[in-house]
Amino acid sequence: MAFDPKRNAMPTQDPKERAHNFSEVALGYTGALAIAEANRCLQCKNQPCVSGCPVNIAIPDFIRALRDGNLAESYQIIAKSSSLPAICGRVCPQESQCEAKCTLGIKFEPVAIGRLERFVADYHRAHREGIPLPEKNGIKVAVVGSGPSGLACAAELAKRGYSVSIYEALHLAGGVLSYGIPEFRLPKSIVADEIEQLTKLGVDIETNVVIGKTLTIAELQAAGFKAIYIASGAGLPNFMNIPGEGANGVYSANEFLTRSNLMKAYKDGSATPIMRGQRVAVVGGGNVAMDAARTALRLGAEEVSIVYRRSMQELPARKEEVEHAEEEGIVFRLLTNPVEVLSYNNLDDPRDPKNGFVSGLRCLKMELGEPDEKGRRRPVAIPGSEFDLPVDVVIMAIGTSPNPLIKKTTEGLETDRHGCILADENGLTSLPLIYAGGDAVTGAATVISAMGAGKKAAIAIDEALKK
Ligand code: FAD
Ligand code: SF4
Repeated sequence: MAFDPKRNAMPTQDPKERAHNFSEVALGYTGALAIAEANRCLQCKNQPCVSGCPVNIAIPDFIRALRDGNLAESYQIIAKSSSLPAICGRVCPQESQCEAKCTLGIKFEPVAIGRLERFVADYHRAHREGIPLPEKNGIKVAVVGSGPSGLACAAELAKRGYSVSIYEALHLAGGVLSYGIPEFRLPKSIVADEIEQLTKLGVDIETNVVIGKTLTIAELQAAGFKAIYIASGAGLPNFMNIPGEGANGVYSANEFLTRSNLMKAYKDGSATPIMRGQRVAVVGGGNVAMDAARTALRLGAEEVSIVYRRSMQELPARKEEVEHAEEEGIVFRLLTNPVEVLSYNNLDDPRDPKNGFVSGLRCLKMELGEPDEKGRRRPVAIPGSEFDLPVDVVIMAIGTSPNPLIKKTTEGLETDRHGCILADENGLTSLPLIYAGGDAVTGAATVISAMGAGKKAAIAIDEALKK
């Protein structure tokens, strides 16, 4: 068997350079690298990789078509299951999904499925021709929220002939893809391109419309929408509720990233205010924490620390993002838990402009105790281990919850105690013909699971409306 036990490395920007710019870090495979990687695939009969993909892409088939040089066919195979492959190829946690199931991974490195998906999608973007327009059936469906879940649902419904209107609260479509994930990981031109393809399918996108304020779900129904898909995400940030959290210079990761990405604070000459700290602490260990830390570094911070209460092993962020962050010089302060945000308070000069601004983060060292209900070892504070970390910006990246606005303004819409909308396996909520999915139902999760829920709901809506 002639295959390389090691996967082909992804060309990337040099860490020293990229730590100071917002251009994409991973540069993508060349044609030769893609073919070499595709040749590593064993074309397993039982296709274990497919079972690891939340939308069941026919992985060996698209890799075989790519290997044989049939790129258009390869794209069509992916597109049957995924409507945003250029995005998923970049941000999906493949190492815990399809690649975790790859047969090659038992003894060697798994096939780099995500990198191949990205290659095929990028090739398609550069070479595609017009899309055939679906025949309209005259039935109106509304989608609330234009993140990956709303976009996937809208695409599937539009292909089936429905007249779809997406209502988005922000001034730009894309959800987390636009306001959360930074340019250096997911170029916004790619998100804009995917959205443009959707509008070409006839989907209407209304921005600056907050459902629950500008219009209610009941008003959408009264306006003739036969079914509604709620994909409003989980954008409400959690805080630690520790003393001093109200100081100037404490951000939620959502606010910090929105200022940088959506409101373009990272661009020279931007009018959007953002505190470019010298020493920045980011609390949390997920993808959001990595994105906030690497953004703060690119905005000019001298030292950026990830403050995480468990060890490297439990860090929930994607492995590749952690490696990239380390290469760029992010400091990992593990087994460390903040207990207070410290701020300046110059009693001699109440008009000192520094007063009220963050001066440090008081932390405790932790050790790992017994496993919790999820099997992760619980962090336990070490008595007497308190120390102060001198920082001037603190970014909280400790999770988010769904915004309660739609629940509050929609009679009979049931949620759980975390505010997540209750829905069955097809996305049907407690109300007839009102569906929901993505982070609004699951709480903060992944792009691909949000897309999967959108597609499933679209199929269910189609079946319900055909009855
Ligand atoms: P969202 O993307 O949150 O979209 C919801 C949309 O609904 C938003 O545009 C919002 O403005 C809009 N909305 C909300 N309320 C209303 C309303 N009342 N009326 C109208 N519109 C409304 N996942 C990965 O798989 N890989 C990653 O690398 C990754 N990195 C991430 C990095 C960051 C910084 C963040 C925040 C998340 C990351 N995720 C990642 C998670 C992933 O982005 C989400 O799981 C996914 O975007 C959820 O999709 P969604 O469509 O359900 O919601
Ligand atoms: Fe190829 Fe791995 Fe899937 Fe087997 S499991 S078909 S080697 S990608």
